Amino acid sequence: MEVLNKETSETAVKKNFLEEIIENDLASGKHSTVMTRFPPEPNGYLHIGHAKSICLNFGLAKQYGGKTNLRFDDTNPVKEDTEYVDSIKEDIHWLGFDWANEFYASDYFDQLYEWAEQLIKAGLAYVDDQTQEEIRKGRGTVQQPGVNSPYRDRSVEENLDLFRRMKAGEFEDGSKVLRAKIDMAHPNMLFRDPLLYRIIHCSHHRTGDKWCIYPMYDYAHGQCDSIEHITHSICTLEFDVHRPLYDWFIEKLGIFPSHQYEFARLNLTYTVMSKRKLLELVKNNYVSGWDDPRMPTICGIRRRGYTPESIRNFAATVGVAKRDNLIDLSLLESCLREDLNKRSNRYMVVTDPVKLVITNWKDQDGSGVEYCNGVCNPEDPQAGTRAIPFGPELYIERADFMEEPPKKFFRLKPGGEVRLKYSYIIKCEEVIKDSEGNIIEIRCTYDPDTKPGTGTWRSVKGTIHWVSATHCKKVHLRLYDRLFTQADMGGIPEGEDYKNFLNPDSLVECDALAEPALLQDISGIAVQFERNGYYIKDKDSTEDLLVFNKATGLKSSF
Ligand code: ATP
Ligand code: MG
Repeated sequence: MEVLNKETSETAVKKNFLEEIIENDLASGKHSTVMTRFPPEPNGYLHIGHAKSICLNFGLAKQYGGKTNLRFDDTNPVKEDTEYVDSIKEDIHWLGFDWANEFYASDYFDQLYEWAEQLIKAGLAYVDDQTQEEIRKGRGTVQQPGVNSPYRDRSVEENLDLFRRMKAGEFEDGSKVLRAKIDMAHPNMLFRDPLLYRIIHCSHHRTGDKWCIYPMYDYAHGQCDSIEHITHSICTLEFDVHRPLYDWFIEKLGIFPSHQYEFARLNLTYTVMSKRKLLELVKNNYVSGWDDPRMPTICGIRRRGYTPESIRNFAATVGVAKRDNLIDLSLLESCLREDLNKRSNRYMVVTDPVKLVITNWKDQDGSGVEYCNGVCNPEDPQAGTRAIPFGPELYIERADFMEEPPKKFFRLKPGGEVRLKYSYIIKCEEVIKDSEGNIIEIRCTYDPDTKPGTGTWRSVKGTIHWVSATHCKKVHLRLYDRLFTQADMGGIPEGEDYKNFLNPDSLVECDALAEPALLQDISGIAVQFERNGYYIKDKDSTEDLLVFNKATGLKSSF
């Protein structure tokens, strides 16, 4: 499959085909207003693919002054739960959208039932006693027409009686179904007498034990749209073969003519999005939960440090396509980086420390400490400055010093100079090693004339970050990488287990030393660890130890 990235994906500059359809419908007077819906099944947590659909449905309605309903497609009581309902509502709000109405397909069970009787009375539906297996066999194949059920020609009276008794609970699960009577030789397999109702003796999360027959997706979806006067029912591409059936029910029942439009579902590299697989990852502890920061769920990427702004921007950048494609994960990351770069506070954090001692330190005011002025966010002058304590004992990144550096190494080296960010220029005078040859201390002198804002400015090639050894605070870092090693997770051969492609290094943990101001950050969004990446404080933080999740690096890691 073609992989689209920032350069090749459709951008929001051009009108997309849905915008064109809506504008035509409004101009022609076919519709006077736009009504869309987002129809999740409450059987799992929402993921970034749903976010795309949410941005599209809510975004289009907003754009044209219309409204969007949230409708839970709760027609299968076996897999559904209020836990999911609550999380779905929370996630949509977090993304920045609000629905006009909160509806449930189950709100319409009475109406759907009445319409089923109407179809029976019109000779367009019948009760079938065949087993699931017999029905499947009778359907035929794409090449071969199906055969009529032996129960297909029951009288209207008999069908009505049986259907009412199905509803009354007289029959066992699987013993009978209600089917539409269309055409067992129809070229579209979905038209070969599709199932309308099945018997499931199971309590429903909203209707309790009122019903023991439940409508099928194809029978319910279009009619629910119609009841709510949905003008543009937007769904993913795989439903295009269902559209004629969607229209068939609406036409036969003579109800509000909702229409279905399909767009390509969002696929991301290194990511699985099927709820079944995500559930399996959670249930079998491959991840810590639905909100594990490696999960593509909305609660997962939120915990990872993603912002609603970055996701909405991503959805707009990806655009709407009519052909299936695969979006580069780096595009999602770059949308986050773009947002955080503008908004997040900067702090210095050393992840792999080596001690640096300033041997000619002059205690300026006798307290032993001096403060440097750090700009909180160079992209936002309003963000102000922070005071960073400086002293004669510091930590720097081990990787910022090299004893035998290559030519273009502009950080610290023996005899070389470097600027400590927001502070003085220092010069490496001596390196202390332990008995095994590991560097344990770098001894430097500082040039007191080079503090920014005082003395005389002179520049050196390299600038490195640091923390004061006496003031720094220990924090814990969780460094996340992509969850899978294979870019096209949809392209895994049939029979091969997707779990074989789990990235064993998707989580690496370590401690780090931070400047004290980090612990006081109340911005609520991810912060930038300078020269490193974006990190967000995790809910697992305690009073003694803050935990930070790595959202993304400063540059694309791909
Ligand atoms: P799954 O197949 O993983 O269970 P689903 O599509 O059945 O997911 P629903 O809760 O039925 O999940 O989806 C609600 C809405 O979100 C539907 O309109 C669906 O088309 C849309 N949607 C789901 N996955 C994606 C995706 N990857 N890209 C865009 N839209 C999606
Ligand atoms: Mg679905």
